[in-house]
Amino acid sequence: MGLSKTLWASPADYLRTHSPEHPVMFFSPETLQACAHEFLQGFPGLVTYAVKANPDEEVLENLIAAGISGFDVASPVEMDTIARLAPHAAMHYNNPVRSRTEIKHAVALGVKSYSIDSHSELVKLGELVPADGVEIAVRFKLPVAGAAYNFGAKFGATVEKAIELVTLADQLGFDVSLNFHPGTQCTDPKAWETYIFTAAEIASVTGVRIHRLNVGGGFPSHRLNEVVPQLSATFALIDRVTDDAFGDARPALICEPGRALVAESYSLVTRVKAIRDDAHVFLNDGVYGGLSELHLVGVIDRIQVFGPYGNRRQGDPVARTVFGPTCDSTDKLPTELGFPSDMEEEDHVVFYGLGAYSLATATRFNGFGDITVETVQRLVKPEAARQAIYA
Ligand SMILES: *Cc1c(COP(=O)(O)O)cnc(C)c1O
Repeated sequence: MGLSKTLWASPADYLRTHSPEHPVMFFSPETLQACAHEFLQGFPGLVTYAVKANPDEEVLENLIAAGISGFDVASPVEMDTIARLAPHAAMHYNNPVRSRTEIKHAVALGVKSYSIDSHSELVKLGELVPADGVEIAVRFKLPVAGAAYNFGAKFGATVEKAIELVTLADQLGFDVSLNFHPGTQCTDPKAWETYIFTAAEIASVTGVRIHRLNVGGGFPSHRLNEVVPQLSATFALIDRVTDDAFGDARPALICEPGRALVAESYSLVTRVKAIRDDAHVFLNDGVYGGLSELHLVGVIDRIQVFGPYGNRRQGDPVARTVFGPTCDSTDKLPTELGFPSDMEEEDHVVFYGLGAYSLATATRFNGFGDITVETVQRLVKPEAARQAIYA
C-alpha cells in the first residue's frame, strides 16, 4: 500500500483521469481532523483513539495534529508506533490478555494504564508492573443489546467478578478505574446509560474510589443513508447520566472510539467486473478485502456509481446481489444493494464511510486485494455529491 502525494479534489476527480482497475481507498485528512474535533469539542472527558480500527500512520499523524493525545493500544507493535509518532501521548493498554513479554515491553515504554477482566491477569500485572501511579481499569460487561455485535462475547467480567477485581486491584495499590465497551456500531445510546449506572453500583458496593470511567468505543459511524448517528446527543447523555449515577464521586471520563473517529475519512472505490444475467454484480473487491466487516456489521448502502468519465449514474436503484472477486462462495455481501439501473460493466462503485476495519483487516487472498490509497481534499457525502459533481 503506497500513499501518493497528489491531492485530488474528490474521488470523481481521480476517476475522470485514472479509471483504476484495482480497488482504491480515498483518504481525506480534512474529514478525519473534523471528526476528531467533533469528539474533542463534544465529549465530556479525554478522547483516545483505538489504534486497531485503522493504524495507518497518516491517520495517526492527523489525529495527533488534531489534538488527540491518548491511544488505546493492544500490542507491542501498536505501542512502538505510538511511542515513535507521539512520545508524550498516553497509552492505555486495554487488551485484557497479555503475555509476560508483552507486559515487560509496556513497562519499558512507560505505559501507566492497563485494563483487566480476570483474576489471573491481575496477578500477572501485580508481579510485573510497579503499582505506584499505575491505573488498573476493570472491564465489566452486561447483556446489553444495541450494538452490531456483542463485544462481551470475548472480554469483560461479570458484575460480581468486577466487584472482586476492583477490591483486589485497590488492595494491590493500583489506581482503580472501570471500563466497558458497549459493542461496536452501537446505535442505541441507552446502552451507555445502563453501563454507567452499573459502574456506579460497582463503585458503591466496593467503596473504592473510581479514578476514571472509560466508556469505550462503540460510537456508530454513518453506514446507512437513513440512519445518521447523533453523536452529540450521546455525549450529552453520557455527561448527564454520569452526574446522576455518581454525584459528587464523579470519575473523570475517557472514551476510546475507533470506528466513529476514522470511518468517515475514507471511501473505497471498487470496479464492476461483470454484471451477470442482469442480477449479480461482481466487484473487484469484497469480503476478503476492504469490505471484510460487512458480514459482521451489516451492509453499507451509502454508495454512488460513476461511469468512465467520472459521470455519476443516476438511474433508479435496482436491487442486486454483490460478489467480490475471489472464488470463495462466501465472498458475497450479506444483503442486496440498490445500484442505478444504468450501471455498466467497468463502472466504479464508491462506498462511503469505510475507514474503520477495512484496510486494517484486508487480505491478499486469491491474489486480489491490492488496494492503493489516494489523498483527497474532501469526501462528499452522497446527498451533497450530485451538486458537487455537476457544478
Ligand atoms: C476495538 C476496541 C475499541 C474501538 O471500538 P470501536 O467500535 O471501533 O469504536 C475500543 N476499545 C477497545 C478495548 C477495543 O478493543
